[in-house]
Amino acid sequence: MHTDFEYFNTLLVHATANQTGAIGPAVIPSAAFGYESAEEAEGIFSGEVQKPLYARVGNPTNAKLEQALAKMEGGFGAIATASGMGALSLVMTAILEAGDEVLCIGGFFGGTYTLVRETFTRFGIKNSFCEVDDFETIERKLSEEVKMVLFESVGNPSLTLPDISRILTLCKAYQTLSLIDNTATPLLVRPLELGADIVMHSTTKNISGFAGPLGGAVVFRAVDTEDDTLLHEKYAPLHKFVKKAGKKAFMAILKKRALRDMGMTASAMSSYITMLGLETLALRVERINQSVEKVAEILDDKLPEGITVNHPSLPHSPDHARYKSDFAQGCGPLLTLECGTKARAFALLDRLKMVIKTANIGDNRTLALHMASTIYRDFTEEDRRYLGVTDGLIRVSIGLESPEVIAEDFLQAAAL
Ligand SMILES: *Cc1c(COP(=O)(O)O)cnc(C)c1O
Repeated sequence: MHTDFEYFNTLLVHATANQTGAIGPAVIPSAAFGYESAEEAEGIFSGEVQKPLYARVGNPTNAKLEQALAKMEGGFGAIATASGMGALSLVMTAILEAGDEVLCIGGFFGGTYTLVRETFTRFGIKNSFCEVDDFETIERKLSEEVKMVLFESVGNPSLTLPDISRILTLCKAYQTLSLIDNTATPLLVRPLELGADIVMHSTTKNISGFAGPLGGAVVFRAVDTEDDTLLHEKYAPLHKFVKKAGKKAFMAILKKRALRDMGMTASAMSSYITMLGLETLALRVERINQSVEKVAEILDDKLPEGITVNHPSLPHSPDHARYKSDFAQGCGPLLTLECGTKARAFALLDRLKMVIKTANIGDNRTLALHMASTIYRDFTEEDRRYLGVTDGLIRVSIGLESPEVIAEDFLQAAAL
């Protein structure tokens, strides 16, 4: 029996390769594509002929990446986008309308939070937030017909772990579409298999891994034309896509109601570079998740009084049981340090010799950042509290280095 990682490593190493000629993925950075005849042009525009129309709505290099990511997530199709934020915007603008409400569960990446709270609010899309285990609010909101449920597989930077299956079972019961941000846990969590409708990634993070191309992706399931959440009357404006595109309805909805008109499309060059990273994703994810646990264990044992490490692999973490049962192969590259005060957090960061201070996560190198003074600086006290951003919080994203060497860097920096 092979492990999941052996399987996915094999799959991803081969997913972007060609069988003959150039083995690496072909990059076709062309904005436009010629049509054989007027009839073919008509067929391409109607969707009957599967050939590139114009790069904003799809191009062959993106298609290769999309096929690989759809396989990785066990999805029916995928769309590569210019960034992770582009992926979130794609899904939400395609499905939601003014007056609709999105229920956001758990902790969120800063950009997602402002997208929902500020930007979409300007366009009349409402939002509500609740904690991951607040099932009373979740059920009440679902019964009040929220249009979409959004959550992250692992709260960033709170590191709260949701009961993904339980939330998705409720979404299904109330016929409400779910969108899961799986950026932190590619290969570790497969939300579509747990009942999610749409999954998104910022491929900028671990999927490429080397802080190269900015990118994102949306992966979706097939639509059941007889019995599907999409056929609920609250999604009436989307029914015509189910009628016309059948099981490919999500592709049609996402392209025709957002990508075509708003253009958050990935560039062929970015998709090409992203595929180079994807080939080694399984190996890197396995290494990083073992290292996060190791670094957390060393720091938990050796950090001086007043600084604590938070990671659900630690036995005293409130999420430890869920980590063991639902995140058996790890929950991604993040851990956090609670330093008590901003001054102490700054002093620690400024003494780090190897760890890089940056706003990114999911890099091949270990990264760290003080949260309250950077990504969350414009947030109110109340919002920060909800997101678990305290004055002394440092977010750490573990990379491919030796975990012992990285732990040593934190320990020498913490010896204030
Ligand atoms: C980085 C990130 C995003 C946004 O992705 P970009 O590629 O930077 O636009 C969304 N969600 C999570 C969890 C992220 O870490």
